[in-house]
Amino acid sequence: MRTSIIRDLAILLVIFGCIWGIISFFPLFPEKVELLSIEKEQKLGETYLEILMKSADFREVESEEVQSAVESIGLRLENALEDSEYTYNYVVVEDEMINAFTLPGANILVTTGLIGFSGSAEELAAVIAHEMAHVEMRHVVTRLAKELGISVLTSGDQFVVGELTRIMASTGFDRGQEQDADEFACALLEDAQIEPRTLAVFFRKLKEEQDNTLLEKFEIVSTHPNFTSRIRYVLEYVPGEDFEAVPLEMEWEGVQDQLQNQEESE
Ligand SMILES: [Zn+2]
Repeated sequence: MRTSIIRDLAILLVIFGCIWGIISFFPLFPEKVELLSIEKEQKLGETYLEILMKSADFREVESEEVQSAVESIGLRLENALEDSEYTYNYVVVEDEMINAFTLPGANILVTTGLIGFSGSAEELAAVIAHEMAHVEMRHVVTRLAKELGISVLTSGDQFVVGELTRIMASTGFDRGQEQDADEFACALLEDAQIEPRTLAVFFRKLKEEQDNTLLEKFEIVSTHPNFTSRIRYVLEYVPGEDFEAVPLEMEWEGVQDQLQNQEESE
């Protein structure tokens, strides 16, 4: 009797051992993104941003007015974010492509093309809110860790940056992540006292301009355009009764003019 219990226990132990071994060998969550602390991600982001600016030959916009306009939009949103562990960094790069994308460590890059395309500061705020959502929900690092593996991603190697840029440009977030980011953005915009449905206005514009080649690299467009349903669910987002929009204090056309002046002086 006693020996049979011991034998059964031994068998159970072996079974559990095997299951444990299989799980460790084939991790259910191969990206193990939780292993990358936010602090580490921010450090990594600094390195990648520096290498990317050099390797892609990106030039930061010279106009302080443009840079500070983007920063103040970002700040309005940041103040509405609760308990964010990230320190945001906004980089405006000279590029006619209409684009905004996010590198690890809450580095949000916005092109001058996007600033020219946005009809108001609020429209740009809607795009930045969407990018912030990908940061806060850790979509950026999850996607990269899935493609590269956490050890390659955290190597900080300059050769990884090329791969990183390729991944950011070619493989998008999945449909669920996009929808989550849109919903997060609506709530964030509401908390920041910016009309959330501005995001739908922006999507409508993108839908009309879908064939514009300058939009090819835009993360919001390239992944899953599907604008009709995105417009619909953003419009279904109704802010609370006490919601009151407070305009972003800046003269948007003046900011856009700065870009033109800069082009002309070159
Ligand atoms: Zn997105």
